[in-house]
Amino acid sequence: MKGKIGVTSENLFPIIKKFLYSDHDIFLREIVSNAVDATQKLKTLASAGKYSGEITDLKVRITVDKEQKTLKVSDNGIGMTSDEVEKYINQIAFSGADEFLKKYKNDANAIIGHFGLGFYSSFMVSEEVEIISKSYKKTGKAVRWVCDGSPEFTMEDTVKDSVGTDIIMHLNADSLEFLEESRISELLNKYCKFLPVPVVFGKKKEWKDGKYEDTEEDNQINDVAPAWTKKPVDLKEEDYNNFYHQLYPMADDPLFNIHLNVDYPFNLTGILYFPKLKNNFEVQKNKIQLYSNQVFVTDSVEGIVPEFLTLLHGVLDSPDIPLNVSRSYLQNDSNVRKISAHITKKVADRLQEIFRDNRSELEEKWNDLKLFIEYGMLTDDKFYEKAIKFFFFTNTDKKLFTWDEYKALIEPSQTDKNNKLVYLYATNLESQFSFIEAAKNKGYDVLLMDDVLATPLLNHFEQKYPESHFVRVDSDVIEKLVAKEDLDQAHLTSEEKNELSPIFQSVIPKDQGQFIIDFQNLGENGLPMIITQNEFMRRMKDMSKMQSGMSFYGEMPDSYNLVVNLSHPLVKKVLDQKNSALGNELAGIQSEISTLSEQKKSLEKLKEGKKEEEVPQEEKDLLAETREKITKAEAGKREKLEQFGSNNQLAGELVDLALLANNMLKGEALSNFVKRSIELIK
Ligand code: ADP
Ligand code: MG
Repeated sequence: MKGKIGVTSENLFPIIKKFLYSDHDIFLREIVSNAVDATQKLKTLASAGKYSGEITDLKVRITVDKEQKTLKVSDNGIGMTSDEVEKYINQIAFSGADEFLKKYKNDANAIIGHFGLGFYSSFMVSEEVEIISKSYKKTGKAVRWVCDGSPEFTMEDTVKDSVGTDIIMHLNADSLEFLEESRISELLNKYCKFLPVPVVFGKKKEWKDGKYEDTEEDNQINDVAPAWTKKPVDLKEEDYNNFYHQLYPMADDPLFNIHLNVDYPFNLTGILYFPKLKNNFEVQKNKIQLYSNQVFVTDSVEGIVPEFLTLLHGVLDSPDIPLNVSRSYLQNDSNVRKISAHITKKVADRLQEIFRDNRSELEEKWNDLKLFIEYGMLTDDKFYEKAIKFFFFTNTDKKLFTWDEYKALIEPSQTDKNNKLVYLYATNLESQFSFIEAAKNKGYDVLLMDDVLATPLLNHFEQKYPESHFVRVDSDVIEKLVAKEDLDQAHLTSEEKNELSPIFQSVIPKDQGQFIIDFQNLGENGLPMIITQNEFMRRMKDMSKMQSGMSFYGEMPDSYNLVVNLSHPLVKKVLDQKNSALGNELAGIQSEISTLSEQKKSLEKLKEGKKEEEVPQEEKDLLAETREKITKAEAGKREKLEQFGSNNQLAGELVDLALLANNMLKGEALSNFVKRSIELIK
C-alpha cells in the first residue's frame, strides 16, 4: 500500500526539520521512550489478564550498523497492527492544527510535545525511517512501513518472529555521528539513564589482553528504579548519597536532602540536595534534572523551580510537566506555578525540621548553606517568612544566633537614644580589628557579615524591621554608632579646630580618596585619631558592584572621615607645637583678618537698604577689595598651617597611625612612616 501522511504534516515536516535542528539529539529520547511505553503497555495488559505471552524479559535494545548506516531501536512491547500504524503514524490529523502551528511556529518543542510528534523527530537525522512491527494481537501478520521524510510512505505486510517493534533509522549524511558508539552512549546516558525498562546498548566490556573486549553480558545503561521512585521509608542516608553520586560523580557529599512526594493537586516526586559548594557561589555545572515519568526532559529548570533553588542539585519528576518543555508554555502553566510554590514550601519546611530536631547539625553546615538561604530570603518572600526562624547570624566570635536570640542579646545594650536597635557588623575580622575591639570594650556585640550577599541582606532586614539599623563598626566612632547621649564638644574652640584641619589635611595621602576632618571628644584614653567610612555611601558603593544602574555611586571616590579626638593629649600637643612655631605670625595674620572683617562689616552696613545703583562706586570697590584681602589673608594662614603640618612629625605620625589601623598605609607612605617612627623613637 502507498499513501500520504495526514494533510497537516506537510506543514509539519519542514518545521520539525528546521527548528529542531539545533537540538536534534532528542530524537533518540523520543524513539526510546516510545519503545519503553510499548513495553510498559504490554506489562499492563498482562497484569490485567489481557495478554498471556512472555513478559519477563521486556527490554529496549539499541543497535548501530555502521555498514548499513542505520540506528535501530527494538522493543518487545505491544507492537502495532497495520491499522494502528495507519492510525497513530499516518494520520497525524488533529483539529486546529493550522492555528496552533502559526502560534508556535518558532517553538519546535511545543509542537512536538503537543502533538505527540515524537516519532517524527527521527526524520531530523534520517533520510529514511522504517517501522517493522508485530502486534501482540494474534493477527499473525507483521507490518513494514517506510518513509523518506516526504509525506509519501509505503506500507506492506512482512514477517517478524516476535511481538514488538523495530524502528530503523537510515541516517542522513549530516547525522553519521550517531553511528559512533560513544555518541550514542552519551545520549543514552543523558536522556535514558533512569528509564523504567532495561535499555541495552551493546555488550558489557572487559579489559583483556591489553584491550577492551565484549563479554556475553548485555550492557544495560539505565537504573530502572532510581531512588526518587522509592518510598522515603525504604531509603537510608547512604542510599540518598549514593544516588547523589550517581547523578554527579565528581561532586562532594551533599549537605542535606529533601525527598519530594506529592500526588495532589499535581504529581511530583524527586529528591533535592543542598550541595556542598567548593567556593563561594561557584558557577553551577551540576544542575537539577527534570524528568517526566523517568524520561529526562531538561536540566534548565528555570521557571519550574524558584530561582534561588536552581542552586540546588537533584531530580524532579512530574508527568504533569509536559515532556517537551517550552519556556513560554511553562511560564503560563498553572501546574508549574503550583509546583514551584510547593517546592519552596517543602524546602523551607525541611530546613525548619532540621533546625527543630537537629540544630547543631544545621549550625555545623551553616557556612555552606547560608548563601542559598540568604538568596532565598532576598528573592522569595514566602521563603523569607519561614527562613527568618532558622536563619543564623554569626558574630565575630563565630557564635550563631537566630534572629530572635540575637535581638534579645543586643536589645538591652545597643538601643540608642532614639530607640533604634543598632546592629553592629564587621566584614573583615583583621582589617576592622580595632573597631571590633572598641565596640566589644563598650560591651557591644559585633556580627560578622562577610559573604557576597551581606549588603543586600541587611538592606532587606532594615526594610522588614524599620526599628533596626545596621552599621559597620568602622562607619563612625563607636560613641556615635550607638549614640547614647549628646557628646561633650566643648574642649577646643572653633578657632582651634579651624587651625587643626589644614595641619592634618596636609599630611593625608592624596591618593586614598577624600577625607573630611571631624572633631570628636573620645576621651583621653581613646585613640587620638580614627578613620571611618560613612555607612550609607559605602553601602551604596557595595550595591553598585552588584546592580546595574547604580554606577553613579560606584564611580564616586572613596570618602572617609578622619575623626580627631579633641581630648587626646597628643592632639593638644600638636596644637601647642603649632602655637610655638607659628604663634606670632598667625596672631599677626589673625589680627589683620579681624581688622579687615570689621571694615567689611561696616561697609556692608552702609549698603543696607540701598538699591545697587544708589551705592557710590568707591564704596563698592572698597568692599570688593576688602573681601579679596580677607580671602588672601585666610589663604596665607592656611598655607602657613599646611606648611607647618607637612613638616610636623607628630601630625604625620598620628595620621599615619590611623591609616595603618585601617590597613590604608602602603608603599612609599608606609616606608616613610617607618623611617619617621625610627626618628621619633631615637
Ligand atoms: P506519543 O508517544 O506522544 O504518543 P509519538 O509520535 O512518539 O507520540 O508516537 C505516536 C504513537 O505511535 C504512539 O502513541 C504509539 O501508539 C505509536 N508508537 C510509536 N512507537 C511505538 C512502538 N515502539 N511500539 C508501539 N507503538 C508505538
Ligand atoms: Mg512518543
